[in-house]
Amino acid sequence: MFALKAKTLVTPYRVIEDGVVVVDGEQIKYVGSSQNVCIPEGCEVTDLGDKILAPGCIDIHHHGAVGCRAWTAEGVKKIGAFLPSTGCTSWLPTVNDAEHCRQIMQAKREGTGGADIAGIHMEGPFLAPKNLPGKPEVDAHLRKPDLKLLEQIQEAAEGNVLLMGVGIEVEGALELIRGMRRLGIVPSVAHTKTDYATFMKAVDAGLRHATHLYNVMTGLHHRRPNVVGGVLTCDEVTTELIGDGFHVHPVAMDIAIRCKGVGKIALITDQSELAGLPDGRYERPNGVAIIKKDGICRMEGFDEKTDNTMAGSSLTIDHNVRTMVNKVGLSLKEVFTMAALTPATIVGINKTKGSLEPGKDADIVVWSKDLVVEAAYVKGQKRYSR
Ligand SMILES: [Zn+2]
Repeated sequence: MFALKAKTLVTPYRVIEDGVVVVDGEQIKYVGSSQNVCIPEGCEVTDLGDKILAPGCIDIHHHGAVGCRAWTAEGVKKIGAFLPSTGCTSWLPTVNDAEHCRQIMQAKREGTGGADIAGIHMEGPFLAPKNLPGKPEVDAHLRKPDLKLLEQIQEAAEGNVLLMGVGIEVEGALELIRGMRRLGIVPSVAHTKTDYATFMKAVDAGLRHATHLYNVMTGLHHRRPNVVGGVLTCDEVTTELIGDGFHVHPVAMDIAIRCKGVGKIALITDQSELAGLPDGRYERPNGVAIIKKDGICRMEGFDEKTDNTMAGSSLTIDHNVRTMVNKVGLSLKEVFTMAALTPATIVGINKTKGSLEPGKDADIVVWSKDLVVEAAYVKGQKRYSR
């Protein structure tokens, strides 16, 4: 048993001054103000001074890091081992194929020694093709809606697919959405060029989430609200937001938060395998070349000003937490709601994760006053220390 004390503790339902969290094995035993929590005798106490204690970030849209995509068990382990250094203690490896799911489950069984694999996010394969001129390889992995394939994927994942993207304008999408709901998967509108009416039809079929709001999605126009207008106003629908400050302008982020509140927006990275690697040109196995410059990844051969060309982020969740505080003006309570509690709630793991509360997993991150990750605990085990 051990206890961590700090000047600021974010649960994130509230911010506690002079807070303490007592950990017993894998779980949190007590949490609260130092005055109210009685630290058991023999418990090792660490006073962290002016540091910030917060629940570990939960990244529900994350493809990779350190040169690996979450496609092989070995890659998943390397990514998992890297993540606590970024303040992420749980993640949903985000992939598009049944074989990826088998590999992820193998890594989960064998253990990553790092962040917890809380489930799987399938971004593909049931998306509308992008049809980028001269780039057929970008769409090569896509499949038409297919209930049998959907079942095979969930079987390969041993029931662990929690979230799945769907191109809502593709024929058969509504049946697919109903199928996802039957299998316990949250259906998410992803990579779409369609309009508001089609979006609402999908909501009526059971659509409940949106993949990276604003990105690869039809934008708001005052006479054509499109999918962005639908997501911003539809209360059944939660959403993700890439909070790196580049994929979405801080003002557009502010608008989204004013419309939906921090309880319905999960802060994500959409992190690619280039996170943790230097700037340069990288080629993916499907032949798509990615240029990484100043942490931003773009497909080669596209004008920087055109949309649709960004290729995931290589910026990590701690960067996004700082961006939301420094560029959008969020409070600690708001930012850790978006980074931990809301994503846990969206994918249904909030009984054990997402906040510092008695009985929940001891997934705890120590941040400096200027929001640099100092240490990270996953289920009570210290997995990172600066
Ligand atoms: Zn993605």
